[in-house]
Amino acid sequence: MRLDKFVCKSTDLTKNEAIQLINAGELRVNGDVIVNEATQVHENNKITINGERLKPRSFRYILMHKPAGTICSNIDEVYPSLFNYIDVEKASELHIAGRLDADTTGLVLITDDGRWSFNITTPTRQCEKVYRVGLYRPLADDVAFKFENGVKLQGEQKLTMPAVLDVISPKEVLLTITEGKFHQVKRMFTAVGNRVVSLHRENIGKISLDVGVGQWRYLTADEVQSFL
Ligand code: URA
Repeated sequence: MRLDKFVCKSTDLTKNEAIQLINAGELRVNGDVIVNEATQVHENNKITINGERLKPRSFRYILMHKPAGTICSNIDEVYPSLFNYIDVEKASELHIAGRLDADTTGLVLITDDGRWSFNITTPTRQCEKVYRVGLYRPLADDVAFKFENGVKLQGEQKLTMPAVLDVISPKEVLLTITEGKFHQVKRMFTAVGNRVVSLHRENIGKISLDVGVGQWRYLTADEVQSFL
């Protein structure tokens, strides 16, 4: 990671304060003074300020039940950010692994570990996300077959990857997808002549939503491990 990021992760300094300190020549990496904040360093490097070794805090992994009318952004926009519900230090360093629309509810995973969230969002890892979908019209008979074989979303070249549909009732289904294109679930149902009226994410990989609306908890070591 970058040297300034390493300093932020190891101290209470802001990014600007860390850069000032580095530019002032206060930091040593394996004994050498380094003044370029963009220098790549590794956790095993000996990084010191005034002879004192810095140790990065460990990454954070959080599960949250997103309420409707909140946005998956670090700042409030038209709707309030869901980070208003999470009272942790340096929340601005966290990001969401797979955003939900403002009107979508359910499971979000939040972290400051970019490699971990990449494993969740990249289609190549085939991480399954399960959505409970409320529909405007009763489900047509051929939709499960179409989703299994891929549908063409408006504006996309490629078909969607195989998706599994479990029918709960004519207007309620569970949909399992392994991609996360913009408004994917809503666009998939539009592509088959229907419309989503409610959307709730229940699972991501092996992780299930088990806290109340607006609540959050840290993931267990096993849950974190399942995406490494
Ligand atoms: N698909 C959507 O259309 N919206 C979401 O919030 C998540 C998946």
